[in-house]
Amino acid sequence: MRDPASVTVSTKVVALAGNPNSGKTTVFNALTGLRHKVGNYPGVTVEKREGRLDLDDNTSAVLLDLPGTYSLHPNSPDERVASDILLGRSRYAARPACVLCIVDAVNLERGLYLVSQLLDQQIPMVIGLTMVDVALREGLRIDHKTLARELGVPVIPVLASRGQGVKELRQALRGATTPSRERAWRMPDIVEQECKELADMLVESDHLDRHLAFHEALHLLTSDDYAIGGQPQYSPAVLDHLVRDREKLEFMGINRNTVALDARYSWIHQVTATVVTGPNRSRSTSSDRIDRLLTHRFWGIVIFLGIMALMFQSVFTWAELPMEWIGAGFNFLASTIRSAIPPGDFRDLLVDGALAGVASVVMFLPQILLLFFFLGLLEDTGYMARAALIMDRFMSRFGLHGKSFIPLLSSFACAIPGIMATRTIENQRDRLVTMLVAPLMSCSARLPVYSLLIAATIPPIAVLGIVSLPALTLFGVYFLGLAAALIMATVFKKTLLRGTPPGFYMELPPYRLPGWKSIGMHMWERALVFLKNAGSIILGASILLWFLATYPKLEEGSASEKIQYSFAGRMGRSLEPVIQPLGFDWKIGVGLVSSIFQREIFVSTMSTIYNVQDKDDSGSVSLRDQMKRDKDPVTGRAVFGPLTGISLMVFYVFAMQCLSTVAVMRRETNSWRWPLFQIAYMTALAYSATFVVYRIGLSLGIS
Ligand code: GDP
Ligand code: MG
Repeated sequence: MRDPASVTVSTKVVALAGNPNSGKTTVFNALTGLRHKVGNYPGVTVEKREGRLDLDDNTSAVLLDLPGTYSLHPNSPDERVASDILLGRSRYAARPACVLCIVDAVNLERGLYLVSQLLDQQIPMVIGLTMVDVALREGLRIDHKTLARELGVPVIPVLASRGQGVKELRQALRGATTPSRERAWRMPDIVEQECKELADMLVESDHLDRHLAFHEALHLLTSDDYAIGGQPQYSPAVLDHLVRDREKLEFMGINRNTVALDARYSWIHQVTATVVTGPNRSRSTSSDRIDRLLTHRFWGIVIFLGIMALMFQSVFTWAELPMEWIGAGFNFLASTIRSAIPPGDFRDLLVDGALAGVASVVMFLPQILLLFFFLGLLEDTGYMARAALIMDRFMSRFGLHGKSFIPLLSSFACAIPGIMATRTIENQRDRLVTMLVAPLMSCSARLPVYSLLIAATIPPIAVLGIVSLPALTLFGVYFLGLAAALIMATVFKKTLLRGTPPGFYMELPPYRLPGWKSIGMHMWERALVFLKNAGSIILGASILLWFLATYPKLEEGSASEKIQYSFAGRMGRSLEPVIQPLGFDWKIGVGLVSSIFQREIFVSTMSTIYNVQDKDDSGSVSLRDQMKRDKDPVTGRAVFGPLTGISLMVFYVFAMQCLSTVAVMRRETNSWRWPLFQIAYMTALAYSATFVVYRIGLSLGIS
């Protein structure tokens, strides 16, 4: 083991740049291991990921994983953060000492476009060539040594998920120097000359660094926007000159908008022609054939729904056994504590409050991990992009953009990354609509609530001999959330946030074998977050609830009367007038109130209430059985009948019940207006939908 104290962590920053999905994060993880932290760039909602990069035994640098970008001319807030840092004019980070640019071998030309812009900057650079395995499978062979010579920078093939090339990458980064070649691509002489003059002016009158000045001059000359978002205005002399230059080029019949692009690409074509052998860029036909099926107008949707149904069925069945183990583990712990501590309030607090509350939520860890596993699998294999494509056709009917689909699908995991993923939507109105409806998608925090309610209220019958009624119910509530999101999006687009969606453009990534390691790492991260939450917020809430459900004490009376006498009981009772029309009793009322902060708290609340109430039990009865046999003392009807179960799930589909989402919305929209509006509309929707479902259920004779 190396002594950590002897390592000098220099402030040298190595920036990791590359196109989206080129494999940056995979390389980042391989280079930094677990020594990284994820945060946000201040003021903007772009994820910041940095970690320690050991260059050799006693020097290390800071590795900064930049948001994916196609060029240094930003089209979205994400790209702006990346390009500003790379150009050394960011508020958030100094100009990096060195750039590690990740280029995806399958999309070599697109990657080289960014490389050519970085080369213009003459920053020390190393290229990591990823997806070489995929390229080989498609018959593409890339001579990386020649490529390195052509570019004047080291090119290292990496297969980061297997650790291949990581050592070489480290070594190249240690010795990285400025590119050994001057800019190789050339525009027509007149453009070159004007560009140089303008750049000189920017250096002199506006004090730009020489390379940045070239970048700016080129951009001013070849694009139509003057002020590049948030840029300082240039001196009048520069702008004057610029107007004349543009006129001159137009007069000479040069298309300003494409001249630089064409010049770069003709150089790129020349480079790729010498380094790539094999079927040039044409995808294998088997992948095309698969695409034709998966994105088919009708079959595509059938397959999509099939995959989703399979996913929920598996989440249910595969998690069953591990969930039993976790339950057994906690039961064992509870009986150990019971036999070690004399009876009394303290023991009850530990067992019925703290332990039972935490256990009731931790139980669902296997299901949540499976959900993340499947979502990761869909993303990694490239299926998600196909789903977005099919869904674009479908979603445009709701006035939504295909790009909204990924944020919505991510919201199946959690609305927070979902809302943050809307950053890729350029149109502000579309983005806002997507953010407003994202929390309607059933997130993983709802899964424990649904699971518990399904287990307690839905009989395990098989439907059509293949799917079970519980799994079908789960699929149904997820589908309800999706449908509600789409319908509400239409409503918002037609009323508050009118506007036509822009055309859809999305590259279909090639099919890939999933990166098991990155999926595993992601699941591990999720497990930690989930368990930390159970050990803090859920634990705290359970203890608090135990007190509320135990005190003040009523000396005489039945268990049910005692709990109704407590603070929690009174709180629930006072809510009854509001929730009775929905078929909910006071216990559910307590659950609804306590889960305003976080949905899972409903589960631990039920656990605490039933444990306080059924104190005389041996303790080995599961929560769902306690709920199943609970009868209303007045009417004698089951508190949790199927209709109540369904109504309550409907309520949770629509209700906001998540403080973190509110906080993220506030941060993203930079005002309280939208988060408050969101809470209001979701609560109204939840209440009315639940009311309708309950009434319909009653009239159909379900109870
Ligand atoms: P980023 O968007 O640039 O950060 O890309 P990621 O690191 O998240 O990678 C995107 C996907 O490509 C993930 O599923 C990775 O597992 C996968 N991946 C990354 N590098 C390679 C590679 O060299 N070969 C293959 N086959 N897959 C890779
Ligand atoms: Mg990434």
